[in-house]
Amino acid sequence: MPEQEPFMRAPTPAPKRTVYTDAMQIFERAADLINLPPRVRLELEEPDYEHIFYVTVRLRDRLVPISADAARAFADLPATKLRNPDGLELLADGKYILNGRALLGSDVAIRNGHLRLPNGNVYQLVVGESRRFKSYRVQHNQARGPYKGGIRYHHEVSLDLFKALAAEMTWKTAIAEIPFGGAKGGIAIDPRQYGKEELESITLRFMYKLKNLIGPNIDIPAPDVGTNAEIMALMYRQYSDGERERHHLRGIVTGKDVRIGGSEGRSKATGQGVAYCIEDYYAEKGESVRGKTFTLQGFGNVGSATAEILGSMGARLLAVNDAEGTIYNGDGIDVPALLAHVQDPKNLHRSVVGFPGAHRIEKSALWDVSADMLIPAALGGEITADVAERLKVKLIAEGANGPTTPDADKVLSRRGIDLIPDIIANAGGVTVSYYEWIQNKRMESWTEAEVNQKLEHAMKKNYRLIRDIARNRPRRTEMHDSRAFCIGQPVDNRCAAMVLALKRIAAHYQLEGFSQ
Ligand code: NAD
Repeated sequence: MPEQEPFMRAPTPAPKRTVYTDAMQIFERAADLINLPPRVRLELEEPDYEHIFYVTVRLRDRLVPISADAARAFADLPATKLRNPDGLELLADGKYILNGRALLGSDVAIRNGHLRLPNGNVYQLVVGESRRFKSYRVQHNQARGPYKGGIRYHHEVSLDLFKALAAEMTWKTAIAEIPFGGAKGGIAIDPRQYGKEELESITLRFMYKLKNLIGPNIDIPAPDVGTNAEIMALMYRQYSDGERERHHLRGIVTGKDVRIGGSEGRSKATGQGVAYCIEDYYAEKGESVRGKTFTLQGFGNVGSATAEILGSMGARLLAVNDAEGTIYNGDGIDVPALLAHVQDPKNLHRSVVGFPGAHRIEKSALWDVSADMLIPAALGGEITADVAERLKVKLIAEGANGPTTPDADKVLSRRGIDLIPDIIANAGGVTVSYYEWIQNKRMESWTEAEVNQKLEHAMKKNYRLIRDIARNRPRRTEMHDSRAFCIGQPVDNRCAAMVLALKRIAAHYQLEGFSQ
């Protein structure tokens, strides 16, 4: 009788499925198809460096609203008359940041640490505490040039997410044919819960720690979700302060304000790039964007710029949502008016909700609106297989990074919904970041027309290469030459984009070799 095994053998663990492994599925598929050399594959499968560090700051004192019940105990507390109401900063969660100057020279009535503001509500005074924030910078690959990628301030981030986003940047910079690699990073924070000066301290401290890891020729951050040109200015200041040649360090971040070395056209570049792809998609069919309808997820930098540009090309926005909810108007939403509504300082959540030119519908009803196109421009993983089954659009142009899950991709392809994948559709931002970086190096400043002309050529040329790869149509035209990239069989657009990226990256390893 065979001897019984004295213990159970542990089964070989199935690789854990994460947002990173999901994002890398398309890499693995394209790498198989083009027989990517094993060592290049190993180099690209994991990032070069994964940095995790912590940022600590002392927060400001806050006035925290108390419940109506608790406020009854303070019924006779007189309202504090503020001489300098500018010292109070209202946050999206209803709390106020209390800067000391708010109370200077005022008649203050405080009881048990509570005071009543002129708005009639009672607030508890909570003394500012010190807080620690987890921070990340993932540097994925630099075969083609310095690491490049955005800085995200959001409460739902993780190392896996930043790994996925950093890898996406490696593919995107290759597709956009700009001499950069890929990186991504940021802070686990909900920026809407912090005051302007707190975010300033957090950003300065973040850059203080990041400084050793990056440089204008090493790794160049840019804005992403939750960050903007102001944050970039702070990062530039912290990096260059006190340096003898500080003016030569402007290229340390891109997405800066044009007055301090940013590029004309950068703030709208991602949306502009999405629009150029869509324009080319319809041009190939002999159609135009004019008269087309679209729905949009996310009305931040990318979403609002895309909507404005498509609107100016004659397309109509039917429905849009953001983190707070969805609005709809079958006759078309007036995008400039919506933008003014979102930017109104009284609109604390900066939300599309409450816009008088549309009515509110259930948040997930966005997916049921019938339109020519859908532009996801919020976060990743939003178009799941279930959502993909519901959609009533003919084209998805991915403004966001990684908005479609691999399962949803299969549904879209079965349902014949066309796709312009993120790594080409939203490459306009990083492309103009590259133009900004060159302008900084040369101490030049280009006009918006120059920037857009270059961007249009870059976007359309590379998008055409991807379509040729997808259809296995090797050819040479005045604008592009796809003969070296087609792989002898048709593939879907997402895979075609990855084939283009991998062939361009692999050339560096093959021709330059590995340093060791
Ligand atoms: P942003 O912070 O300016 O805007 C994000 C928008 O998404 C906001 O309107 C927010 O309310 C909305 N949102 C957040 N959670 C949501 C949810 N659960 N449902 C619906 N809407 C939600 O960010 P952004 O810079 O416009 O970036 C948007 C996307 O585009 C991200 O995926 C980003 O990685 C990608 N991207 C940005 C750039 C760039 O240049 N800014 C470039 C390439 C790709």
